[in-house]
This record gives sequence, structure tokens and C-alpha cells, in this order.
Amino acid sequence: MSDRVYLDWNATAPLRGQTQRAFAAALSATGNPSSVHAEGRAARRLVEGARAQVAELVGAEPANVIFTSSGTEANALALTPAIESAAEKRPREKLLISAIEHPSVRVGGRFAKSALEDIPVEPDGRLNLAALAEALAGVSRPLVSVMLANNETGVIQPIAEVAEIVHAAGGLLHVDAVQAAGRIACDITALGADLMTLSAHKIGGPKGVGALVRSRDDIHFPDPLIRGGGQERGARAGTENVPGIATFGAAAAVARAEFAEETARMLTLRQKLEQGLCAIAPDTVIFGAAAPRLPNTTLFAVSGIKAETAIIALDLEGMAVSSGAACSSGKIQPSHVLAAMGSSPLLTRAALRVSIGWSTTQFDIERFLIAWRKVLPALSKELKNKRGIAA
Ligand code: PLP
Repeated sequence: MSDRVYLDWNATAPLRGQTQRAFAAALSATGNPSSVHAEGRAARRLVEGARAQVAELVGAEPANVIFTSSGTEANALALTPAIESAAEKRPREKLLISAIEHPSVRVGGRFAKSALEDIPVEPDGRLNLAALAEALAGVSRPLVSVMLANNETGVIQPIAEVAEIVHAAGGLLHVDAVQAAGRIACDITALGADLMTLSAHKIGGPKGVGALVRSRDDIHFPDPLIRGGGQERGARAGTENVPGIATFGAAAAVARAEFAEETARMLTLRQKLEQGLCAIAPDTVIFGAAAPRLPNTTLFAVSGIKAETAIIALDLEGMAVSSGAACSSGKIQPSHVLAAMGSSPLLTRAALRVSIGWSTTQFDIERFLIAWRKVLPALSKELKNKRGIAA
């Protein structure tokens, strides 16, 4: 597989060398973190060390990090009418979400479908703030969920402004930062988020570990998804996934240490990629180009091609990319994100996502562009003549 170029980091990131070592070391921790003996205390130290590392990545208190089995579970834990803050104990009646959220938010957690409302985005992929303010008018104590960065386009939402609007309306703000963590600044307090979701496997940790972070300890989860032994301060029962959590912590620490350098490096690579794409096909559309975006993500389309066919053609050339659309069952669904941005069905069907990370090199980008130049003409028989693709 060494001649392969992996450009699908928003789907999942490979484990880093440092995190692989942390994983191997944690696998030999025999104790249960709830046990009082030395083995138990050693496992507990691993979990609490990781809690501090994850907390530090987002500027939170370690005690406010709840480990879960995934980003999906963290979103489900957050999105409940029962969530409490300060002295208020009445259930929340309404959940407002942006129209471009990940499916794990779009299903609405434990809110009834009738309590769920979509807030539209602008054509550049950013939330329509006036529509948010309007939807909040007259709603008592809403819960609002807006992602920090979109998994398909990489578009970054103006979360600090969203937080001001939500708090002025007496609401609580949940932010899905799964794609943003380690790629842009994610300080929970600076952003004004009350709750934040993270996932280990997007930052170089293992799959199957996530966290829900609260900005302060007066936010409570009286209705946990998983009840039992009272782990995670009662918010998530079940013996902790010690190796997974320890590795999540190690990945968070490396992501934090390398953040500034990596962000700048990825931005340079993304610019090279996008210049190359536009040189190959001048009518290339880069979704969300007018908005701030993650430094590692490019969602682009050349009208007339089919993303499914392009992915297979690129795979045969050794390139792992994806369509922007959800593809969890192997069948590509039309992207709700691009639909919300007003993209035409023809362009949406052509959307391809290239997402990069710390092991991506300039050479990888050059190889991708060579492969793209090679496969593009065959993807639409008339494309070459019609659009004058440079040979
Ligand atoms: N939120 C966003 C924005 C995502 O991109 C993903 C995964 O792709 C998730 C949540 C779910 O995270 P996990 O894979 O850990 O369940």
C-alpha cells in the first residue's frame, strides 16, 4: 500500500507514531480504573492523564470532559431536552440545528422530530445568523447545535457570533468540533460554546472513542444514554476504554504541540492543490471558497462528471479520496450540505473531497494532480472538447 496516497483524512486520520506507542503501552494496563488496588490506580492514571490532555486541547477543565464511545455518542448525549444548566430544571422544548450538521446531529438526539428546526446556511456554507435570531424569538430555553467546521466543505462557522445570539435568547449552545479539533483553534471558552463534541480518530487517535466537553460544571446530564456503574461522573456508565482513551489523550497532546506549524503547512498544500485543480479544469468549482475553511479540506466539482466514477478511477491510480456526500453504507447519498448551500444537483453529483493531514506531502499533492489530469477526460466523454481541459 506504500504507493497509495491517502487523501481522506476527514473520514478518518491514521494513527501517528507517537499515538501508536501510547496505544501499545496502554494495552498492557491490566487494571479496571474503578478498582482501588495498584493495577486499578495505574489504569485510572492513564484515563485521568488523557482527560487532562483532551481538556487542554480545547481549553477546558479536565473534570468537564466526559469520554464516550465516539463523536456520534457525544452528540447523542448532548442533544436531550433533559440537559440542565445552573438552577433551571425544566426540559428544553426545542432543538435548533444548522442545515449542514453531521447525520449524528441531524437525527436530533432525544428530541421529538416536531421539536427540531433547521436553520438555513448562506450559499458560501455559513449559517444565516438573521435566520437563527428569528427562529430563536419567542422560544424559551432552546438548545442549539452548530458545528465548528463542516466535514464535507471544511467551512468554518462564526461560532462566537452564534454563541452571542443563542445566549442572548437564553439558550445553550452545543458545538460539534469533530472536524475542527487539531486543525483550527477550538478554545471552548473563547468560542462561547457550552458543550463541545470531539472524536479521537479525526486527530490521530483510535476509532471508537469520543468526548463531550462542557464549558462549566453547572451543566448536568440527568438523563444519560448509558446507565449503570456511574463512571464518567454518572454521565456515561461502562468500564472505560483505557487504551482508546489513553491514545486519544496522546493524540490530543501531539495535535496541540504541532498545531501552528501543521495548520500553516496544510494551508500551503491546499493552495497548491486548488491552483492545480483550476489549472487542469478552469471551470472547477470549489465549494465554500468564499468562506473561511479548514486548512486541510477541499470539496470541488467539475460539472458533468459523476463522483462515484471519479472515486473509482482515482482509486485505481492509487488515490484515496471521497465524495463530499455521506457514504456510510457504500451507497453515495446526495449531499444535504451542498443542497443547503443551493448547489445544483448536477454539480452536487460531481463533488469530490480531498482532505489532508500531517503526513501529506507536496509530492502527494503533485501525484494527485497528475492522476486527476489523467482520469478527468475519460470521466465525461465530451468534457475535453466542451471545456477545453489543458492536456
Ligand atoms: N461530527 C462530524 C462533523 C463528523 O465528521 C463525524 C464523523 O465523521 C462525527 C460527528 C461522528 O464521529 P464518530 O465517527 O466518532 O462517531
